[in-house]
Amino acid sequence: MAKPRKETGRAFMVGRFQPFHNGHLAVIKEILKENRSIIIGIGSAQYSHTLKDPPFTAGERHLMISSSLEQEGIYNFYLVPIEDVNSNPLWVAHVESLTPPGFDRVYTNNPPLVRRLFQESGYEVRSMKLLNRKDWSGTSIRKKIISGEDWKSDVPKAVAEIIEEIDGVTRLRELTQSDE
Ligand code: NAP
Repeated sequence: MAKPRKETGRAFMVGRFQPFHNGHLAVIKEILKENRSIIIGIGSAQYSHTLKDPPFTAGERHLMISSSLEQEGIYNFYLVPIEDVNSNPLWVAHVESLTPPGFDRVYTNNPPLVRRLFQESGYEVRSMKLLNRKDWSGTSIRKKIISGEDWKSDVPKAVAEIIEEIDGVTRLRELTQSDE
């Protein structure tokens, strides 16, 4: 029988954060109202420089998230890059091996796979809906960057600065051409 878990006050959420946007920030603030700290998994950490998978590297996403949270005065977080593994039944153990020991609950909404895998491993999984999905979605922000529409109001100031600093706009536009 599995050992009962000791309460740690830590929550876990995972996403690709391509890029980190205002919706993710709002969700993290909500999660921190009911938990002492949050572990944020940066998913698909091995991928970058593609349009279908993430355009931004794990290191760039790490900087985007940490700078945005610090700009908000939030310091009770742990950021963990997590590479994908080619076996779903092993994925939760893989996440556990990389993250600070013990988290009480997992927050996810979409898609059902993450929820199912954590539930099957005995975790409590809670939903946390992203707000304003019309503007605050990774896909829509990447499209706006490529087409030259305003995207900076959809992301924290730190994210806009980092995307400018790494010349992310040109990267995304060039990726569109190479993917075509
Ligand atoms: P994701 O790409 O971050 O999320 C998928 C979709 O759900 C995106 O459209 C995302 O929007 C949206 N979303 C994220 N949080 C949401 C929320 N709170 N409410 C509503 N919609 C939300 O990543 P994921 O598919 O959830 O998976 C997380 C990571 O785990 C991925 O990197 C995945 O590869 C990894 N994973 C790996 C394995 C394995 O290796 N075998 C198994 C399971 C999961 P935004 O684009 O706006 O964020």
